[in-house]
Amino acid sequence: MKKLLLVTVIFGIACGCLRTEAQTISTQDNARFAEADLVVYVTNSGARYHVDGCSSLRSSRIPVTLADAVVSGYEACSICKPPRLRTPPPDTGRAALYRVNVEEPANSAAVELARLLRAEVIGHVDGDTVRVRIADPSDLVGVVETIRLIGVDTPETVHPRREVEAFGKEAGEFTKNRLLGKIVYLAFDWDLRDKYNRLLAYIYTGDGRCHNAEIIRAGYGHAYTNYSFHFIEEFRAIEREAREARRGLWQ
Ligand SMILES: [Zn+2]
Repeated sequence: MKKLLLVTVIFGIACGCLRTEAQTISTQDNARFAEADLVVYVTNSGARYHVDGCSSLRSSRIPVTLADAVVSGYEACSICKPPRLRTPPPDTGRAALYRVNVEEPANSAAVELARLLRAEVIGHVDGDTVRVRIADPSDLVGVVETIRLIGVDTPETVHPRREVEAFGKEAGEFTKNRLLGKIVYLAFDWDLRDKYNRLLAYIYTGDGRCHNAEIIRAGYGHAYTNYSFHFIEEFRAIEREAREARRGLWQ
C-alpha cells in the first residue's frame, strides 16, 4: 500500500508539472487525462493488466498508466476486472490497433476502412476462422495469423472427431467465396487473442461490410454471445432477423 501511495504521489507531481502550461484545458479533457493516467499493474511475463491486490500479481507487479497498458497491447484481466479505457489513448507514436470498444462506432457498418489493419486472406479454415497475411505487422500482430471472427459461431466442419454439422459446409463455402484471396481490413475489440492464441477480429471486405455480421445475416451462423463484444446487441438483432426470414440454418 505504501508503494501505491508513493507511485500515486510521484504521478501526481509529474502530472502537475506537465499540466501547468495547459490551464485552459476543458473539463472533458481533464476527465480523459484522469482516466488515461489511472495506475494499473502488469507483470514481467503476463499479457494482462490488473488492479492492485489481484492474485496474478504475486510474482511481479509493475505500475503503469492505463493508457500505456492499452497502447502496449495489454488486455484487461478477466479476474480482477480493472478499469478499461473508454476514450482513445493519447497518440504516443507507438503501434495501436483500431479497437471498436475504444473508438465506439455506433454499429458494425460505421467504421472507416482506412483506419483498419490491412490483410490478405491466404487460407481458409472454416466459416468463422481464416488465415491472413498482415500488410503491416507490429509487436502486437505477426505477419501470418489465424483469425477467429468475433461474435459469430458457424457449424463445425473440420473437427476431427465430430460429424460435419448441418450447414457447416455451406458456411465454410460462404466465407471462402467472400474472403479467400481478397484484401480485407481488421478491427479488434476488448480481447486481442483467444486461449488458442488466435487473433480475435472483425473482418471487413472492401465494400465496407463486416463479414462477421454478414455470416449471421445470411443464416450461416449464429451470434456467439458467450464472450461480450461491442456489437453484441446488433448481432443478436441480425440473428433474430435471419431466423424470422428462415435463412440458412433457420429453414
Ligand atoms: Zn487481475
